[in-house]
Amino acid sequence: VKVRAATGSIGGTVSHEFQLPADVGEDKLVLCPDRHFAANVETLNGEQTSCPTCGQKLTQTRGIEVGHTFYLGTKYSSVSNAVFLSPENKPQLAEMGCYGLGVTRILAASIEVLSEEDSIRWPSLIAPYQLCFIPPKRGSKEEEEGAALLERVYDDLAEALPHLAGDSVLDDRTQLTIGKRLKDANKLGYPYVVIAGKRVCEDPPVFEVWNQNAGEVLFLSKEGVIELMSKVQVP
Ligand SMILES: [Zn+2]
Repeated sequence: VKVRAATGSIGGTVSHEFQLPADVGEDKLVLCPDRHFAANVETLNGEQTSCPTCGQKLTQTRGIEVGHTFYLGTKYSSVSNAVFLSPENKPQLAEMGCYGLGVTRILAASIEVLSEEDSIRWPSLIAPYQLCFIPPKRGSKEEEEGAALLERVYDDLAEALPHLAGDSVLDDRTQLTIGKRLKDANKLGYPYVVIAGKRVCEDPPVFEVWNQNAGEVLFLSKEGVIELMSKVQVP
């Protein structure tokens, strides 16, 4: 959430913090349930309990600050005489703004907010890898056909969605059962896990797909997998 914040030593007239609501956060926030108003309590004069726009009671939460923007106006440009020429060829002071992002803090805060007790969850936009492929266990009756079919899913996916080609991991520890490898993938938090399981030998082949962030398991054809992955947002 974007909240009104103190400008602190940077100065300027307006500043907003970008906060990820989380119980472990160090900042105290107040929010209008309909999002008209949000502020870090540091900025409030005395007790403010209702929304200035709609009058509803403000809810309190804690947040982790992951970004901060400042509107500086002409505070620095007037001192350093940073001017530009207007379309009328008149010198004008530049309006300035600045921002900071806590890059490593965004990672830590995302994990804090999204993860479960024993497994990491990443938003797709910052997940180190989007996809984990799990081929059949060595010695299983699906082994050869399943591995080849899964490879074809990867090849066709890489061709249709080249931006995901380098965003995939193959868990080829085929001495381990699918269940064991799925458990590891679950802990590491790949947003999608594609498994060549028992149904890979059906005609047409069916793959088991775990959409981890939605908490759902899908049974999809190769085309279905590519269709699903085409909706994934990556940087
Ligand atoms: Zn309101």
